[in-house]
Amino acid sequence: MALIPGDGAGPEVMAEARPLLDWARARGRHLEAIPMPYGAEHFLATGETLSEAAYADLRDGFDAILFGAVGDPRVPDGRHAEAILLRLRQGLELTINFRPCRPLPGTGPEGLHLEVFRENTEGAYCLQGSTEPGRAVDLAVHTEVAVGRLLEAAFVRAAHRGCTLTLAHKANVLKHGHGLWVRLFQELQAKHPEVSARAMHADALLCALVQDPGSFGVIAADNYLGDLISDLTAAFAGGMGTAPSLSWAPHRPFRCALLAEPVHGSAPDIAGKNLANPVGMILSTALLFRHLGWEAEAEAVETAVSGALADGAKTRDLGGTLGTSAMGRAIRDRLS
Ligand code: ATP
Repeated sequence: MALIPGDGAGPEVMAEARPLLDWARARGRHLEAIPMPYGAEHFLATGETLSEAAYADLRDGFDAILFGAVGDPRVPDGRHAEAILLRLRQGLELTINFRPCRPLPGTGPEGLHLEVFRENTEGAYCLQGSTEPGRAVDLAVHTEVAVGRLLEAAFVRAAHRGCTLTLAHKANVLKHGHGLWVRLFQELQAKHPEVSARAMHADALLCALVQDPGSFGVIAADNYLGDLISDLTAAFAGGMGTAPSLSWAPHRPFRCALLAEPVHGSAPDIAGKNLANPVGMILSTALLFRHLGWEAEAEAVETAVSGALADGAKTRDLGGTLGTSAMGRAIRDRLS
C-alpha cells in the first residue's frame, strides 16, 4: 500500500490513520505501507509533481493508495494537485467514488444512511477547455463506458441494500451529456427491476435532500454534481472533517485499483495547528479495509470511532476541544 499524505492537513490526519495499518498487520493482515513524498513541498523543492515513472510505480507496484489531501496556497494554480490526484483518478480509471454518509453519535439524524456514487474521472472535471478573449470554455465529457460502470455499481449497491436509487441530472439543459446519463440509467432500470430507481433534476433533488434526507438511499451523479451533493450529505454527519471516501476501478485495469481519501481537502485555514478532525481519514481507511475483504478490521475501526464520539471525544469542528492527535488516540484506545 502506498501512503501519500500530501499537503496541509493531509499529513496530520494521515499520521492518525497510519497506526491503524500497524494494528491490522499485528492482527495478521498482510500489509506493507510505503510513504511517498508527492505534494506541494516536494514540487517546490524538486519541480516534480508526479513523474511518469512515479505514476507507473504506483500503478504497477501497489494494490492500493491511502491519500491525505493536496492543495497549497504556495501553488496558487493548483498545478501539482491536478498532476497528482487527478492523474491518479483518471490514469488508474478509478471511475467509482463512493461517499457514504452515516451520522456518528451527536453529529446528525440517527439511522440516516445515504451513499453517493460519484463518477470520478470525467464530466466537467476532464480539464478540457480554453480561456479566450471575452469568453471562457469548460468542456464536460461523458462516455458510455465510465457512466455505465458508475451506474451499474450504484444499481448493484442499491439492490444489495434494498434501498432507493436516485440519479441526479440536468438533462433538461445539459441535453447531450446528461441525456446520455438518463438513457443509460433507463436501460439499467429495465435490467434491475428489483431496484426502486428514479431520475431527478439535481436542483429539485437538493431541495428534497435537505427537506427529507431519509427518503434517499443511494444517489448516483456525475463528477461535478457528485462533488456538490456529497459535500451537502457530509453536512448531515458532522461536516467536512468526518466524511470518508473510497475510489475504485471496478474493471481492475491495473494492479492498483483502490484509493482511499477523506472527502475534505488540505484545509489550509487550519493546517499545522493540530485542529483537523482525523475521523474522515480514519473512516476512509476502514472503507479500504472493507474493500480488501478485512470486514472485522473495518467494523472494529468504525465501532471505535462511534464509541469515541459517543463518549464525548470531539475535535473543534464538532464542538469539542480535542486536537487531531488526541482524537486519533481516543479512537485507537478503543481498538483491542
Ligand atoms: P478541495 O477542493 O480540495 O476538496 P475545499 O476547497 O473543498 O478543498 P477543504 O480543504 O475541504 O476545502 O476545506 C473546506 C472547509 O472545511 C475549511 O474551512 C476547512 O477548515 C474545513 N475542513 C476541511 N477538512 C477538515 C478537517 N479534517 N477537520 C476540520 N475541518 C476541516
